[in-house]
Amino acid sequence: MNFEQFSLDPRILAGVKAAGYTTPTPIQEQAIPVVREGRDVLGIAQTGTGKTAAFVLPILQRLLRGQRRRVRVLIVAPTRELAEQIHQASIDLGKKTGARSVSIYGGVGKGSQIQALQQGAEIVVACPGRLLDLHGQGVIDLSHVEVLVLDEADRMCDMGFLPDVRRILKLLPTQRQTLFFSATMPDEIRDLADKILRTPVTVQIGMIAPAKSVSHALYPVPRALKKDLLLTMLEQTATGRVLVFTRTKYRARNLARDLTKRKYRATALQGNMSQNQRQRSLDGFRDGKYDIMVATDIAARGIDVTDITHVINYDIPDTVDAYTHRIGRTGRVDQIGEAFTFTEPDDEAMVRDIEKVLGERIERRQVRGFNYGDFQPDRQRPKPSQPRSRGRNRSTASRGRSSRQRRKHSTATN
Ligand code: AMP
Repeated sequence: MNFEQFSLDPRILAGVKAAGYTTPTPIQEQAIPVVREGRDVLGIAQTGTGKTAAFVLPILQRLLRGQRRRVRVLIVAPTRELAEQIHQASIDLGKKTGARSVSIYGGVGKGSQIQALQQGAEIVVACPGRLLDLHGQGVIDLSHVEVLVLDEADRMCDMGFLPDVRRILKLLPTQRQTLFFSATMPDEIRDLADKILRTPVTVQIGMIAPAKSVSHALYPVPRALKKDLLLTMLEQTATGRVLVFTRTKYRARNLARDLTKRKYRATALQGNMSQNQRQRSLDGFRDGKYDIMVATDIAARGIDVTDITHVINYDIPDTVDAYTHRIGRTGRVDQIGEAFTFTEPDDEAMVRDIEKVLGERIERRQVRGFNYGDFQPDRQRPKPSQPRSRGRNRSTASRGRSSRQRRKHSTATN
């Protein structure tokens, strides 16, 4: 598969070439033809899959025809970093097309953004608040929007932007193409997608194996000793920024509190906190006020903190997808990250599922000098001499029970 097969204009292919793309990524392969047909799209994919070009390329193709210098494409993104990234991709890929893009977001002066809008642009990449602000001031006309892209919709929801997004939707023509991207589909996001998409084509990018720059290890431990093991590990390991995951918000809150009592600079990020409290935690973690953040899967979705050195799964996640998501927080951009997972005897089935996706067996480790009591961590793996099937059967039997129970528990409390 190559980009020529999409029948994109040579001016756009020139942008693709300049960007150094030779082979379309799976989401580009699936989404570009559908977007070109003018269909609505529900894209379930994370950042890093090439999703930006998946919508930018067919959008650039559309813009080659029709009126210039009025806003025909609106791309809404949750953070200014993402808005800038999409804006830059539009400029780079569309360099030879003559299409103009403007990015607008808060936290910086409005002057240059207003000026850029006044000079005329076909693409506006915006964060919700500033967009509404500028629209209120009458400096942006959204009545000619033909394509709306909502990017990282789940993160917008996490960051409390859904009311703003709903307000923006009211300002747009109802006759339009809508492209909706989200890494996950919680109920609120599913409802929004159902409401605004018309007979969409769903494009879902399956499991992406985690980056190779992460080294994984399992630490067998009984549940009752987990906290002590974590404390010992923190003492022995040279850690930078550590993200710890627990299964429930109560466990996150309590563990963060216990770590703080032990003089660690720790904070929690969990669903029972107000938006303000969450923001304070996140800012503190990002700015270095806290070294450790204890989070639940759902609360951690909005985290865009880089250089996390260690992800510690204090509780193993419920799904392999969640594991990939969690450890995707470390080992970014050429850094080596470490992903440690505490495993209880019942977790063996989930461990096997994770190993299947990683394509390798994860190393089992013990913390030196730690008092495991009666528990024998080295007995938690099948002995090499043991016939494989026996060990498997046993753990499969316990797997069914434990993971079902866990899922039930987690939906009720997370
Ligand atoms: P995204 O998921 O859109 O944030 O893209 C992730 C990264 O992949 C960006 O740095 C893109 O420039 C890059 N990228 C996107 N499409 C391709 C491709 N077909 N080949 C190589 N790199 C790509």
